[in-house]
Parts: sequence; structure tokens; C-alpha cells
Amino acid sequence: MTQNRPVRVRFAPSPTGALHIGGVRTALYNMLFARQHGGTFLLRIEDTDQNRYVPGAEDYILEALAWCGIVPDEGPTQGGSVGPYRQSERKDLYRQYAEQLVERGHAYYAFDRPQDLDAMRERLKQAGNPAAQYDHRIRMDMRNSLSMDPEDVTHRMEAGEDFIIRLKIEPGQEIHVRDEIRGDVVFQSDELDDKVLLKTDGMPTYHLANIVDDHLMGITHVIRGEEWLPSTAHHVLLYRGLGWEDTMPAFAHLPLIMKPDGKGKLSKRDGARFGMPVFPLSWQGETEEDSFTGFRETGFDPRAVVNFLAFLGWNPGTEQEIFSMDELIKAFSIDRIHKSGARFDFDKAQWYNQQYLLSTPASELAALIAPLVEAQGWERDPSFLAQVCDLMKERVSYARDIPTQGSYFFTDVGTYDEAMVRKRWKPDSRAHLEAILTRLQAQDTFTSEELEDLVKHYLEEHQLGFGAVLPLFRLALAGTMKGPGVFEMMEVLGKDRSLARLEKAMGDFDRICG
Ligand code: GLU
Repeated sequence: MTQNRPVRVRFAPSPTGALHIGGVRTALYNMLFARQHGGTFLLRIEDTDQNRYVPGAEDYILEALAWCGIVPDEGPTQGGSVGPYRQSERKDLYRQYAEQLVERGHAYYAFDRPQDLDAMRERLKQAGNPAAQYDHRIRMDMRNSLSMDPEDVTHRMEAGEDFIIRLKIEPGQEIHVRDEIRGDVVFQSDELDDKVLLKTDGMPTYHLANIVDDHLMGITHVIRGEEWLPSTAHHVLLYRGLGWEDTMPAFAHLPLIMKPDGKGKLSKRDGARFGMPVFPLSWQGETEEDSFTGFRETGFDPRAVVNFLAFLGWNPGTEQEIFSMDELIKAFSIDRIHKSGARFDFDKAQWYNQQYLLSTPASELAALIAPLVEAQGWERDPSFLAQVCDLMKERVSYARDIPTQGSYFFTDVGTYDEAMVRKRWKPDSRAHLEAILTRLQAQDTFTSEELEDLVKHYLEEHQLGFGAVLPLFRLALAGTMKGPGVFEMMEVLGKDRSLARLEKAMGDFDRICG
């Protein structure tokens, strides 16, 4: 990128609800870029659209970013020298820029009432143009300071009539946007509408506030989602109109995030459709349709989410897939961001989570699941929990599944996989189990190696394979055929519990098969 100023980037969400996972990726890429260049990462809350404002959304955004380890250097909570960082707290400063644009002939006042706009749309529809927009073709037929007599305009303004300010797009120009990912993107000004810059209540629209703030906050690079690319043509014209072209930021538009089946853009509803989270944290909206489960509540490790997001539209160009935040900061580069849409592959997200689960020390996992175990009223001795985690972590997708899928470590077996019991409980099974039990009783130390040796010996003596007893041991200890190795399980359960379960199971198996 060709900027010589110290790097300053921003994430600028609108607090209109839960933060879509694509927003988190935008925030992440901005932060990685800032850190890599020793720059500054700002958070700016774009809350000028009062109608779309949702209480609680800003806190949600802050919490979601913090959970992912995405921490702004400047923002509404951190403060900073170019604040305030909430646009609603800056609302008085935007108007002067809209007025400046009018004075320079790049914008104009418009007095059209809603019914005038409706009539215009209807007229154009009748004429065969359903996608009517307010632009150079129709502006002279409307009620604005370009079409009306100047005295009339002054008179209306003095009488306090409602007006808005619109950007005046000159037709017949090519507008070049240099995008760091896509190269030169050309827009025809004929196709662009005269965007509203200032509303009747004096509030700026997104376009005006965004450009003014990026300028005043010294933003050097705008890294945002591809859906903003078309607006960039308007933004370039605003920079020009305000005489700020020299310090116009560089633009990088991130590829869209696509549905898991690749058919279209990932939407918030796809979470329910594909049975996966698309938000970082759960969000409780007013309706069921507006409530979603998040990655956090699904049980994800935030480091896995960050790693997954980093690869959603970028790759390091090497085979390495597991990256810590520090490694991402070193490896990240805008040049390696893809142009085409990034498919949201939830299996990959789970794969990342498993990788982090496997590499997390058992003692840390134990601390993580301790509250869940405690809530059940189960034994939560840290070293016991760590042993359970060690055995279970490669068998689950999320840490929090360890106590549920491994509940038999904490509580007696209530039910057995009865079909399996019927298949495995043979006429001579009891005799063998009892004989092994007697030997186990005489065993003082209970390590998995010793247990395995003991059972192996017995089986060899009787010319039996492991299949004759191991499935029965497993069913007796866990109730199910799934789970870690039988001898490891016995070591963790300890002698008393293991033997009591084997003893009890023989009676239960008889009953099931009886
Ligand atoms: N407020 C916009 C949003 O919600 C910001 C877009 C931009 O980064 O310019 O995404």
C-alpha cells in the first residue's frame, strides 16, 4: 500500500443487532493489519440511523470482540485523541461538511416530500423503469436547489421547511477506485444515485459520517466487506468534493462469506438452516427469529474461531493451518486475501476447535469444565478432572461435551446399550468375568498397563481373544460401546468404582438377557 502516514485502521459497526461473523472477520483483519504495521486500530460506533438502533447491540459488539481477543487501541471504552468514537456523540460536526459541499457545487438541498418521491417512482415505473433512483436524469424534475428558483430556496429555508442535502453526481464520468484486493474498479457516474448526505433531522447518513470520520480520525486504510464496494464510488467523490483526496485512505474490500453449500451469501438465518452458529456470541432478540446461538455458547475456543476466521478469505501461502494471534500478525498480508467469496465451512471450524482442544493442557480443560461438573453436583477434584479430560479430549468436538459424553466418569451407569449387551453376554461370560474380577481384587496398583497385562494373561491362559471380555467391561463401566480405552478408563475410575461396576453389571446383564 502506498500510504506514508502511520497506519490507522478502524472497525466501524452499526449497532443494529448481533454482530455477524463476517463483521468479526473484518475487525480481525483490521487489527492484524494494524499490529503488523505498528499502527493503531480504532473502533467507531456508527449509530446515526436512529431507526435501526438496537439497545444492547454496542455492548454485544464489545463483548464479542473481547471474547475473540480483538482489542481496539482507541474506541468508546478506550477513549483516544480523535474521539468521541460514537457518531451520535459527534452529530453536530457533520452538517458543516454537507454545507461545504453545497457551496462548492457538489451537493444540493432537496425539499421533496415523501409523496413527491412516490410519485416520481410511480412515473418512472409506468415509463418502464422499475429501479428508479434519484439521479441526474430526474433531478431537474424534482423540488431541489438545482431545479428551483434561488429565491424560492432561500424563502423555504427561512420558513424552516424540511430539507435534506444530496450529493450531486455529475454524469459522464468514470470513477476509478483503486482496491488493494481487486485492483482498479471502475464505476460509471451515470449509474450512481444522488445519495442523501444529511437528513431532515440534521443527522448525517452513513456515507457522509463515514467519510468525515475517516478523514478526521486519520484513517489510512479502509478494510471492510465487499458489500461496501459500490458505495466507494460515492465515497471517492466525497473525498474529492471536500478537497481531501490527498489523504484519501487506501481501500481493501474483503470477499463475501458464502453459505456452506456455496449458494449465495451467508445470512443470519443460515445458522438455523444449517444447524451452526453464524454469530460469535448468542443473541436474544425480541422474537424467536431474531435469536441466535453463538460460537461461544456452542462451546468453541475463541482461538479456534479466530484461526478459522483468519482463513475465511485469506491464506498464508504455506501448509501451516494453526496460527496463534501473534503468528497471524506476522503472516497476514492483504496481498493474500482472495477475491472470490469464501465458503463458510462449519466442519472446518469444528476441526480447528478440535486442534485447539487437543493442544490444550488437561489442567486447563479441567478448569474449564469444573463449573459444569460442579453444577451437576459431581466430583470435581482438579487432578481427577484433568485425567478425565486427558482421556476424553480427542473424542469430543467441544470441551463442554467432556462431562456430558463422559458422564460415566462421574456417576454410576444408569442404562446400558442393551442391544450390545444381548449380543455380547454369552453363557460362559459370567464365569470369565468372575475369574478376572477375583484377580483384579488381588491387584493393589491399578495402572492401565498392569490391568491390561492381567487381563491379557487370563485370556491367553484360556485361549480367548480380547473380544470375549473387553466389550463387556466397557458396557459395565460406561454403559456404552463408545469411549476411551477400557484399561485407561479403569485406572481413572480407580479400583473400588471399577470393581463395583463390574460386579453390578453381571446381575444387570443377566436380567437384560433373561
Ligand atoms: N457502519 C458500516 C457497517 O455497518 C461500516 C462500513 C464501513 O466500514 O465503511 O458495516
